[in-house]
Amino acid sequence: MEAVTREWFEQYLVPTYQPAEFIPVRGEGSRLWDQAGKEYIDLAGGVATNALGHCHPQLVEALIAQASKLWLVSKCTNEPILRLARAMVKATFADRLFFCNSGAEANEAAFKLARRYSLEHFGPHKSEIISFERSFHGRSLFTVSVGGNQAYSSGFGPTPAQIRHLPFNDLARLEQSISNNTCAVVLEPIQGEGGVIPAEREFMQGVRQLCDRHQALLILDEVQTGMGRTGKLFAYMHHDITPDILTSAKALGGGFPIGAMLAREEVAQAFGEGTHGTTFGGNPLACAIAEQAFALINQPALLSGVVQREQWFRLALEQLQQRHHCFTRIRGQGLLLGAELAPPYQGKARAIVRAATRTGVILLTAGDNVLRFAPALTISQPEIEAGIARLEQALIGLH
Ligand SMILES: *Cc1c(COP(=O)(O)O)cnc(C)c1O
Repeated sequence: MEAVTREWFEQYLVPTYQPAEFIPVRGEGSRLWDQAGKEYIDLAGGVATNALGHCHPQLVEALIAQASKLWLVSKCTNEPILRLARAMVKATFADRLFFCNSGAEANEAAFKLARRYSLEHFGPHKSEIISFERSFHGRSLFTVSVGGNQAYSSGFGPTPAQIRHLPFNDLARLEQSISNNTCAVVLEPIQGEGGVIPAEREFMQGVRQLCDRHQALLILDEVQTGMGRTGKLFAYMHHDITPDILTSAKALGGGFPIGAMLAREEVAQAFGEGTHGTTFGGNPLACAIAEQAFALINQPALLSGVVQREQWFRLALEQLQQRHHCFTRIRGQGLLLGAELAPPYQGKARAIVRAATRTGVILLTAGDNVLRFAPALTISQPEIEAGIARLEQALIGLH
């Protein structure tokens, strides 16, 4: 058989991104191996998706068991989706769920639901969606327009109307801007792609109050922060508030594609028969895997383990900082951490990530100036230390 090479990417794939130079072929826990057998420590976790590591035995078992039973049927519900929905209702603020295949689709559903709810309850004037600068909500035209990064949304116009972007963590600006025409306010409890920027507690609580005052819906995009990532099942649980709508994806399937929109009863009712839909969403294969992932993640020991791992991670990063003065600060919560780069590394996040693949560790960026870490929630302390040691080698090699 002809050997597959990285050059094929240049030849056959739409050039929407620049993948790493190596091709991984196998993964186990927080380790990966490429075609040449070289080992990598994975501190990216498939962009916060592989919450239980690569090829977790119980997820593989759930996949294989369901794969030989039933993949997809039309016009029927199935057992895995019903069990998963019930488990998620019991564990959260939500009364009902809509399942889909990705974060963008979950947010698309959330924004459409908010618009339909506001139309039915208040009228067509109440259609404005307030979002925040640097936010990220997906790449469909609606979600990328709600997202606060012009670079991603420009060049595809005309874009959907009645969307506003305000500075994040600025309650006074929101208070000035929100009105009875506001249909929903959407935010990430920690902005992920935007630089690992946590929403302040007072901001989260203030947004909730302003939404209540103006009868606007609060949508939390927990695609990246949810499913145990911050040490709670969902990040809103740190802030003594509940949203009206919440979206989940990334780690929901432990690495298998699935997304969900969660809503409280009255809001969910605005999606009556025929108003929204999906072909693959909620299929038994995806739901069987997500059901197992949910059962493993929604455990006190796993969630408190995330808090412990955050401490190990911060310790390793602080030691690196003491030796190299490479960061101005470290932000985030649980296992969604961002390290802002100091001179002479400032603006070199991408170069560091490339150098790090050569020394055997996989990292993420969040913009040009932040290294982002979103490893498996099960990563061990030796793996964290070895990963940071390999990052140190990469930093030294950059000089
Ligand atoms: C990744 C992400 C999305 C988009 O999810 P996809 O599965 O890539 O469509 C949306 N919102 C947030 C906060 C994300 O991190």
